[in-house]
Amino acid sequence: MKQLLPEKLVELANCCPRPLYVVGGSVRDFLAGYPLGPHTDWDIASPMTEDEFLAACEKCGTHVRGVYRQTGTVKLEDDEKCGYEFTRFRSDRYVRGVHTPAEIEFTEDIAVDARRRDFCANAVYYDIRQGTFCDPLGGREDIAARTLRTVREAERVFGEDGLRLMRLARIAAETGFSPDAEALAGAKRNAALIRDIAPERIFTELRALLLSDAKHGDSSAPYRGLTILRDTGVLAEILPELAAGEGIHQREDYHVHDVLEHSLLCVQYAPPEIRFAALLHDVGKPFCLARDGNFYAHAEEGARIAEDILSRLKAPRALTRETVRLVRMHMRDFDCKMREAKVRREIRDAGSAFPLLLALKQADFSACKDDLSPAPSAVKWRAVYEKMRAEGVPFTVKELALGGADVQALGVPKERTAEMLKELLDFCLTDGSRNDRAVLTRAVLRILERDKKPQ
Ligand code: ATP
Ligand code: MG
Repeated sequence: MKQLLPEKLVELANCCPRPLYVVGGSVRDFLAGYPLGPHTDWDIASPMTEDEFLAACEKCGTHVRGVYRQTGTVKLEDDEKCGYEFTRFRSDRYVRGVHTPAEIEFTEDIAVDARRRDFCANAVYYDIRQGTFCDPLGGREDIAARTLRTVREAERVFGEDGLRLMRLARIAAETGFSPDAEALAGAKRNAALIRDIAPERIFTELRALLLSDAKHGDSSAPYRGLTILRDTGVLAEILPELAAGEGIHQREDYHVHDVLEHSLLCVQYAPPEIRFAALLHDVGKPFCLARDGNFYAHAEEGARIAEDILSRLKAPRALTRETVRLVRMHMRDFDCKMREAKVRREIRDAGSAFPLLLALKQADFSACKDDLSPAPSAVKWRAVYEKMRAEGVPFTVKELALGGADVQALGVPKERTAEMLKELLDFCLTDGSRNDRAVLTRAVLRILERDKKPQ
């Protein structure tokens, strides 16, 4: 493992008066046989005090970014590739469920430090100077068996810190490890403790879970993580609107799964950029079924519910906006009966979200019957888009052959300019060859004439 450590870390260990260990995800992933990429998060730990460690950092010329004496944590300067975080060996005491420990006691005993962690697989230490592993809780066996087992009774481990419920699903997804039966049962009994965790933390974990395939390349990783959230009951706590889709069956000619399973599978079939939209695209269905007895309004209601959910989780605004838009649009022309002129308008109005919408249509289609063939509606829309491009249909006013100054020179008042350009865009929508200065000039004059006539 030594060859894989950043040089800086080895140097630092050599400057320390006592052993410096790497622990956590990097050791786990190394022992599991995964490559450690350039963005590896190096968690380091030691029985040293912060002051001993800080002195070593100074001797070694390592830049310190922050010292948090309460938790014995020192953050080191990121060299833009790796994160380094030092924590002094300690044990934590919790008030039930709350992520931040109520009391911290420092220790020199590595086994005590190991037992304040979450899973045994995350509690294997690598002594940097000695080049040896230290495994107080048998984590190496778990890693070999690809198991997540809690460091103490699962009931207590999850009962102390609700964030561990999310970590269980996220780490299982990223590593491909399976929680053992006790971990699952302990998480299930404590699922409600997720309510005590800050929404931002839940969102961060959920996003990492939805993108967990990026970690080691297993395409089914996000789906697996979501099933753990579902089976432990955590999903029903954080996304009750989505969990309500369990057991709601749909038209058998379109679907083989219930609404929830279809949504989780949609995530698996979706590219990373649209995972939240994939997860939430049918979130309006349980609501509509209860209110209307059918699903007709589910895209519109789903957009509203998705907005509620993402605001509640304090998701970034841009992600919320884009997700809500995709959820709202995902059913458009589902049956391929929409007239081409209308499809053209939808495509133009979708703007930069258009490729994402196509991807969502495809993922939605694939998740109905686990059918990877091209989705008819996506095929139709892509063909219309390509036709529009080939014709030179302008998608934005910037692409119009006439600009604001041109139409004003033709007599369009300043305050009418934006509206006129929009009319010209519409004029070109069904025939890209109209985007020509002479043709558009005639169109402007015609529109001005029309506007002069009494209505
Ligand atoms: P990653 O590969 O994402 O960095 P990680 O397991 O290293 O995964 P970190 O958040 O970097 O996760 O935490 C480092 C280590 O600290 C963990 O492996 C675990 O031993 C411990 N740890 C982190 N968060 C908790 C927690 N909420 N409860 C208990 N132990 C934790
Ligand atoms: Mg880590």
